[in-house]
Amino acid sequence: MTQQYELYIDGKFTPPEAGQYFDSFSPATGTLVARVAQGNAKDVDLAVQSAFAAKRVWAEMNPLERGKILRKLADLLVQNAAYLGKLESEEMGMPSSLSPMIVVESAKFFDYYGGLAASIHGDTIPINPQIFCYNLYEPYGVVGIITPWNGPLNQAARSLAPALAAGNTVVLKPSEFSSLTALEMARLATEAGIPNGVFNVVTGDGVNAGAPLVTHPLVRKISFTGSVKTGQAIGAIAAQKIMPVTLELGGKSPNIVFEDAKLDAAVPMVLMGFILNSGQICTSGTRILVQRTIFDVFAAKIAAAAASFPIGRDRPFPTLGPIANKPQFEKILGFFESARQEGATCLTGGERASGEGLDQGLYIKPTLFTNVTPDMKVVREEIFGPVGVLIPFDSEEEAIRIANDTEYGLASGIWTQDASRAHRVASRLEAGTVYINTYHERAIEAPMGGYKKSGIGREKGMAALHDYLQLKNVTMKLI
Ligand code: NAD
Repeated sequence: MTQQYELYIDGKFTPPEAGQYFDSFSPATGTLVARVAQGNAKDVDLAVQSAFAAKRVWAEMNPLERGKILRKLADLLVQNAAYLGKLESEEMGMPSSLSPMIVVESAKFFDYYGGLAASIHGDTIPINPQIFCYNLYEPYGVVGIITPWNGPLNQAARSLAPALAAGNTVVLKPSEFSSLTALEMARLATEAGIPNGVFNVVTGDGVNAGAPLVTHPLVRKISFTGSVKTGQAIGAIAAQKIMPVTLELGGKSPNIVFEDAKLDAAVPMVLMGFILNSGQICTSGTRILVQRTIFDVFAAKIAAAAASFPIGRDRPFPTLGPIANKPQFEKILGFFESARQEGATCLTGGERASGEGLDQGLYIKPTLFTNVTPDMKVVREEIFGPVGVLIPFDSEEEAIRIANDTEYGLASGIWTQDASRAHRVASRLEAGTVYINTYHERAIEAPMGGYKKSGIGREKGMAALHDYLQLKNVTMKLI
């Protein structure tokens, strides 16, 4: 029998007020994975009230204790990595050889921020001997976290861990395309000792469950990961509420290959840079800029590597899983059509993948376009699939100009053996992350976030912790 998932409110599974559920299907097989509660504004209110009631208990808990509980949650996630990885693989199609590794990586957020919880402290400001002036770093209270479907547990953990370590309580609204691991994480959080109400999950779609969370008067901060369009809508509401937001949005990141790059290292990593997780990574390096002197050689090598890349959810890593859901799959096919109409040349891929074990799934072949112009849709818009464009350049200056010719600014890559050039170019790229001779390096200690339309604020690293704290100054005259 198909499992039914309820909301997670106040430390327990709670049926949705309206009694409605939606179906979650496997993108690899098309079969029903689970029925999931459709939350609405009343459910959101219940969850927010629960988080509001729990906020003093959590904020006033000794930070070392708070950190210990978070590290216990990290342990439980690792212990359950096989199970959680399987769920994630079934629901959103992540390769089954990759998803348990991602669970272990997600657990590290709780280890890292749990370890930092007791290091959050204020400072004093010398004014004169009669004045005692100090700063306190305080939690906001109830934080709403809204996540997309491409790395469900990872993205939830990425925002949740610093929010909780800072002493906030949370209502998480995962994507309607990938709800299950968030609910399982909430259950494990209670098992780890997180008090009831500190971490709640309301599942459902953006309109019925996401929007009421953003507008709720008791929610004091929103952390949103998702598309620019939704980020803009949330930002507009936040402006009305004068509420801080962290917005982690989309990208169209450049990956620049200079003629002196070590091609043996560059070819496989530039390929992984845009096909890992079937290209459904916000930082994917999808605009591949290659110096003209090596363009043909590089293009031939990467096209051959792309064409022979293994496809199928349940194969050893590395392998390409399906696209996570039907609307996204259709969107990618639409980009193929527009590329053809606009006159791009398809070097490899450009169609769905078929064959044994693939026909029931939403599989897309790794795809590369060349002969593209700056105005083409495949060059300008985020596709969110295993699709890259190859663009030649002649000089360093031209590479920087093309790299920055985008409204996004999330990530970027540079491949060169010239260290001076690497840092010179890094300093001029308009992006929150610059990788040099690597890509998708996933250190949780390193901050990430967007320049330009890719976002506001930072997740990961110490920077994220500060984004979940507000500053209070206390000044006393010693009379
Ligand atoms: P999306 O914006 O459609 O949805 C994201 C979340 O917002 C979902 O939970 C959805 O239900 C919710 N939502 C939708 N409308 C809402 C509304 N009006 N109010 C409140 N919540 C609402 O994005 P998606 O399609 O799920 O994810 C893909 C996008 O996410 C891509 O653009 C990708 O680049 C981006 N992304 C960014 C990062 C990052 O760290 N910068 C990471 C992963 C994904």
